[in-house]
Amino acid sequence: MAIKRFYLILFVFLIFLLIGITAKRNTSSDKNPPPFDFITKLKGYQKGNNTKEVHDLKAYLERFGYLNKNEATNGDFDDALESAIKTYQKNFHIKPSGVIDDDTISKMRAPRCGVADIVNGTNYMQPRNKNHLPRPTSIHTVSHFSFFRGEPRWPPAKNHLTYRFSSDFAADLVARAFQRWESDTHFSFSRVGNNQEADIVIEFKQGYHGDGSPFDGPYGILAHSFAPTDGRLHFDADENWSAADIPSADAIHLESVAVHEIGHLLGLGHSAIEEAIMYPTIGSGEVKTNLQEDDIQGIAYLYNYQN
Ligand code: ZN
Ligand code: ZN
Ligand code: CA
Repeated sequence: MAIKRFYLILFVFLIFLLIGITAKRNTSSDKNPPPFDFITKLKGYQKGNNTKEVHDLKAYLERFGYLNKNEATNGDFDDALESAIKTYQKNFHIKPSGVIDDDTISKMRAPRCGVADIVNGTNYMQPRNKNHLPRPTSIHTVSHFSFFRGEPRWPPAKNHLTYRFSSDFAADLVARAFQRWESDTHFSFSRVGNNQEADIVIEFKQGYHGDGSPFDGPYGILAHSFAPTDGRLHFDADENWSAADIPSADAIHLESVAVHEIGHLLGLGHSAIEEAIMYPTIGSGEVKTNLQEDDIQGIAYLYNYQN
């Protein structure tokens, strides 16, 4: 009798253990925090505060060009990191304090493009010297558009670009994004069959796929693309992409991201103007599909429009 009771208690205990393990596994896989959420743990941090999360922050800033590789090897909140944060804050119009404040956290957490803001020491998001800028269309115009290093562009005579997909997913939305650039530039675009030669190749990729910044599951890096005349545009296949005109609050508006990435394909870098299509971040639920003066001026400068 005593033995029977013992087995019953053991059985009940094992059932509870099993339920416990299953529940734990569910919470850890269902609630994987978005990739950039580690930054919230660094609230109030500044020079002298050294932790593991500081190492993650350095990796983040290295990925987007604010630190070079050998500055990002440890978890020390050192001079290099402070200066990188100040540069980041300037680019995003936050008071350059070098302290991880609320504004910095909310910007760094935002989903964004995988193309770096700074490459080989060139900070694309800060205005360049004056004789490099186009004739201002009005005295109040401040342009923040930028280009890739060496200002690569499509040959002037090549004003028609073809594009293809690796699957038909979201093809109509991306077509709409191309039309938005068509109306304000000298470019026209047309789709060719998925197996044909094309100037631009659009694919959905997962994780590390051998180029650019590795994709990272939902949120974090949304997409990346390459300067002319490379033509590769990659979307992170793991995003909760929305095809709706107005996406739900937790979804990423695919057409908006496509309009941004096409800007890179044509030769634009990131802009510090928050309203511009070429601004690096976009919130979930946000819609941003209309080219702004800054974007249009950027293309006009790069391709020497005489208007
Ligand atoms: Zn971008
Ligand atoms: Zn890629
Ligand atoms: Ca992602």
